[in-house]
Amino acid sequence: MFKAKVFACCCFLLLTLPHVQAAEAEPSLYQYSGLFQYRNKDTAEFIEAARQTDLLTANTPVARVFRYIYVQGGQPELAQYTPWQSIESPSEADWQTLKAIDEVYYAAARSLMAGFIEQDEAKLQALKQELLITGNKVAVAQVASMLAVFYLDFKQDSLNALEELMYALPEIQANTGNDLYGLLFDKEFVLFHLFAILYDLGAYESSYQYGETYFELATKTSPQMMASSDYFLMVLLASQLGKYNEALAYADKLLVIAQREHPSAQLYALLAKVSVYARRGQPGDLQQAFQLLGLARLSSKPEDWDVVDEARMLAVNTTEAGLSRDMPAAKALLTQLKQVMAENENQFNLTDFKHVTELERFLAEFNSDSELAIKASYQLVKQERDKLLNALNNRLEKLSGGMQADIELVNFEKLKADHIAQQQVIETANLKTIIALLVMLLIATLAAWLFVQRRRIHQLAYTDPLTNAPNRRFMFNLLTKVFTKPRKGNCIALLDIDHFKKVNDTYGHQTGDEVLVKCSQIIRQRLRSTDQYCRYGGEEFLLLLKNTTVHQAKEVMDDIRAALHATSTWQSTAEEFAVSFSCGLVELSSYEDIDLAIAHCDQLLYTAKKQGRGQTILPVGAMQPA
Ligand code: GH3
Ligand code: MG
Ligand code: MG
Repeated sequence: MFKAKVFACCCFLLLTLPHVQAAEAEPSLYQYSGLFQYRNKDTAEFIEAARQTDLLTANTPVARVFRYIYVQGGQPELAQYTPWQSIESPSEADWQTLKAIDEVYYAAARSLMAGFIEQDEAKLQALKQELLITGNKVAVAQVASMLAVFYLDFKQDSLNALEELMYALPEIQANTGNDLYGLLFDKEFVLFHLFAILYDLGAYESSYQYGETYFELATKTSPQMMASSDYFLMVLLASQLGKYNEALAYADKLLVIAQREHPSAQLYALLAKVSVYARRGQPGDLQQAFQLLGLARLSSKPEDWDVVDEARMLAVNTTEAGLSRDMPAAKALLTQLKQVMAENENQFNLTDFKHVTELERFLAEFNSDSELAIKASYQLVKQERDKLLNALNNRLEKLSGGMQADIELVNFEKLKADHIAQQQVIETANLKTIIALLVMLLIATLAAWLFVQRRRIHQLAYTDPLTNAPNRRFMFNLLTKVFTKPRKGNCIALLDIDHFKKVNDTYGHQTGDEVLVKCSQIIRQRLRSTDQYCRYGGEEFLLLLKNTTVHQAKEVMDDIRAALHATSTWQSTAEEFAVSFSCGLVELSSYEDIDLAIAHCDQLLYTAKKQGRGQTILPVGAMQPA
């Protein structure tokens, strides 16, 4: 009963008091808010801007609130320029006056206070509840945006941040391009963070979608706010998704924007473009990549390097060594790069470390170093997992605290029912259902993402990165299964390309690689779905052909050889040449175990080489067709 009276009393105060001052305070409110952009500048500069308003002299509730925010949030010496010795914390009545004038600005100012300055999550949550009751969704979205920043910056908790951002997105307003907009969060901000967090979590598809929406909006409303880092992320994302044309278009815009910024931004921009070319790997792309790396080197001046620049230059050198297939040098540079970053840990964030691991994995794949690639992949998953665990822990804490909050809310609802329309109760309940749905959606997304990562590691472990053929390990697993059953009618064939060293020596390693890829493609195209093959060694492939006689299998091998022999033009060289191979072929039922079968196959291959190459040899006795 007593509580109800207090409540009614507060309502009365809220409804009457502010209106007295609203008319005069309103214009200055937006001017004070506009000063937000100067908060971190020189005191002199801030004061000069503040003198265009009456912030320094007015003794109104709104002026008291803003003076306090600016003193706490970047201008501690502000008091010297006012008639007062010190700037006191605003009273609850001051805040409520601001709320009555403009709930959205109240939400932004008070959440900045609670989030950035006091770093108090409970206060932010309470503020959100308070504004939910008013039903002003635009104001709630302001608090949700601040909560997202809070979770992200102070708790490394991207899961909760995502939830708040998704919650804010439908209601938050786009930037009006007005200076007086000041301390408000805007739609651009929310979209950008959704785009960045989802990228961090590896949810590239959704990240790219938010990214596109963000670019579409921000290039219209606030192009001056867009930084090269926005474009950088977009380049990485598009190329990650195989949208190479879009990636290159973003990379070119990035280069233009980067010119306006620090020289190291330009370096990063060039590296982004290099990564697109290297990933796409079309003819000529590698040359383009090297050319850009040369430019990257020219664009940086060692005399004004800081640690971050040093790290970037090490990344350039690592990339160059890796793309030149000098893995020992690349590994040494990577070690150096990681050391620089570890020693200056506070200069880099988790994403920087992730980029290094990504670079490592990319170069390892490019150089067929599957062991290193698997390690790097594992490292990436581990980094993500640590972040995810952190986020989940926070969520559990919140759930246990949330129960108490919910009980309080229920009590409050009972009280409120006497005073406020039923409509608002329903609205709060609806918002809670929406949150629950969003969280479920999110967890499903994350689970799917972890699954994809795991599958990717599995694929890496069993796939040859150059040709994309299954590897020897995969084949041995398969053959082990075949040998547990009767295996009549199953054949294996081992082929080795003839004079392959000459191909490397005459046309270069890149052409050698192209021949291997082509050979793998031809085999794949000519096998039935029941057959399998693997890259057995350098230029050797092992085939398993089921339900076939050695003679039929020999025809298949001759067919493959003919197709390979008919290929004489290559993308990596203008010169024309063709290759052939020698092959040994056996039927599996004659052997006790896999090793004996393969050893005999290898002997027959050796015989084929001795007898002039370019042929398939069957075991004695199988020579004549049945
Ligand atoms: P032969 O007809 O007797 O088989 O002659 P060959 O020149 O093919 O001799 P050998 O099988 O000993 O040579 C294999 C060469 O394949 C040696 C190695 O440098 C090269 N090689 C192995 N793996 C790769 C690769 O991934 N890419 C390229 N370009 N070359 C490779
Ligand atoms: Mg060989
Ligand atoms: Mg060979």
